[in-house]
Amino acid sequence: MKGTVHYANMTPSELENVRARFDALFGEKVEYDFVLTPELKGGFIAHIGGKTFDMSISSRLNAVRERMTYPDDPSMNAETFAKVLSERTGAFKFDHDVFDYGTVVSSGDGIIHVKDLPGRRYGELLTLADGGVALALEVSDNEVGAAVLFGQTSVGERVSATERVLDIPVGDELLGRIISPTGEPLDGRPSPVCHARRPIEYPAPGIMDRKAVSRPLQTGLLSIDSMIPIGRGQRELIIGDRQTGKTTIAVDTILNQHDQDVVCVYCAIGQKASAVAEVVSTLREKDAMRYTIVINSPASDSAAMQYIAPYAACAVAEYFMYSGRDVLVVYDDLSKHAVAYRAMSLLLHRPPGREAYPGDVFYLHSRLLERGAQLSSELGGGSMTALPIVETMAGDISAYIPTNVISITDGQIFLESELFHSGMRPAVNVGLSVSRVGRSAQKAAMRKVTGTLRLDLAQYREMSVFLQFGAEVDSSTAAMLERGVRKSELLKQPKHDPYSLADEVCLLLAAENGVFASVAAEDVADRARRLLRRLHAVCPDELKAVSARGDIDEEIKSRLLSEMRKVMRRLSR
Ligand code: ATP
Ligand code: MG
Repeated sequence: MKGTVHYANMTPSELENVRARFDALFGEKVEYDFVLTPELKGGFIAHIGGKTFDMSISSRLNAVRERMTYPDDPSMNAETFAKVLSERTGAFKFDHDVFDYGTVVSSGDGIIHVKDLPGRRYGELLTLADGGVALALEVSDNEVGAAVLFGQTSVGERVSATERVLDIPVGDELLGRIISPTGEPLDGRPSPVCHARRPIEYPAPGIMDRKAVSRPLQTGLLSIDSMIPIGRGQRELIIGDRQTGKTTIAVDTILNQHDQDVVCVYCAIGQKASAVAEVVSTLREKDAMRYTIVINSPASDSAAMQYIAPYAACAVAEYFMYSGRDVLVVYDDLSKHAVAYRAMSLLLHRPPGREAYPGDVFYLHSRLLERGAQLSSELGGGSMTALPIVETMAGDISAYIPTNVISITDGQIFLESELFHSGMRPAVNVGLSVSRVGRSAQKAAMRKVTGTLRLDLAQYREMSVFLQFGAEVDSSTAAMLERGVRKSELLKQPKHDPYSLADEVCLLLAAENGVFASVAAEDVADRARRLLRRLHAVCPDELKAVSARGDIDEEIKSRLLSEMRKVMRRLSR
């Protein structure tokens, strides 16, 4: 039998593989004529025994050109689309076994079912007839369920296997960029040229690969750093109703890393474009994009794209962690992620469980968050701190997703609508918030000055309920209330204005030692700012010493205190 193979951009070993497979397919030795045909752009077209096997990139491009029209986007004509696609096809390299192909038996809502494609793996990429890509998510002997990431397909069309899993470009080149979960630029700049790629799914470090969390990650928010400290490598959940300042806490934490040598990754899942634009413009304004990467899968993306977004962000963060650096990754938010996964699972005909989520929704988040770690010194000592965000309904933290994620993380920052609306911002509920590992990472200076803050606040909040009824209180209770109200006022902090460690230490020192005792409660926040401004002018060396050493000795303490008392006296005159 004779055959002609037109090919382009294929290595000799790939050609050898093609030859071997055709021999096996026809069960006899075929006499080939290999013709280099650059117009194909890649792949091959083989004519053998009256059959044609078309696995060329150019045919895929043509298929796309014919099918696609872009009524909404005048800049997206067939030519530019073909260019985009050929870049993509380059990324998803043509190196798979061309004979493993099946047929689409159902297609709708971004989910396809494919028959005659045995031996697939969970998470494997499949190539559609138009060069698009789908992700295998439901694998059985006779059928594969897959979510379409790019491109389109319909019933009867061919789908081929790639034996590759989804990966994303990673590296320092991504800093300052906004990308999609598959690594395409969303900021109008050219595709980032990265020298490395990482699979979006990757096993979490084992026990021997980790060491205890021991270094702080300062958020710059007084209420969190003092009472719910976060350490590098910790997973701390930010949980609260809608519009309670969850995103703001995460963004402020990113802003506070400007001089901390921490790379930040912000992953937006299923959010409105306007919300993401606001975060990005804040980061740009405060010059935080130079150390930040934004990965965005907006609400308009397919459920599949939203589903892979946090894993992609994690892969990008892992690159930095495994190269010995510290990285902070924010998943905003995992409730929307779970909803996207539920939509996908239902379309894949998986049986629904509690709240209609599929049975493996716990594993969905545990395998993501377990990838955050403080690595051992042998592995370079890098860390990945994760701040997942979860939205609750009417403060119900016992719903399915909240309880799951609470049990996976090392603590939670619980935000309350009521506090937020009463003007207590950030609206942290101190009673329900915990940090299970951060305490040992807290700086010594901080530990020395926190004192009875948590207790005072708890007592104050409890007693203030009585006060609402105009109850009479004795003098010791009144004194406690006075202390409590001032401390709670001190914790109010405007957004995007993080404190340095030294600032926080000074404020706590002042509160513990009654510096604000003579100030009216509503003036505390204002006085605190003026106090700090003054301290920066008169005690710069003391502040620097606190920041540099992370500790405070009695001498500096007393010098700072006496200076603060002096300032307060002057301010109250
Ligand atoms: P959503 O549920 O919509 O995602 P969210 O919980 O992420 O909301 P944010 O978007 O962070 O909440 O904040 C809600 C609003 O509150 C925003 O307009 C924000 O500017 C404001 N806000 C948040 N924190 C503070 C603060 N500390 N001081 C003043 N305003 C704040
Ligand atoms: Mg938000």
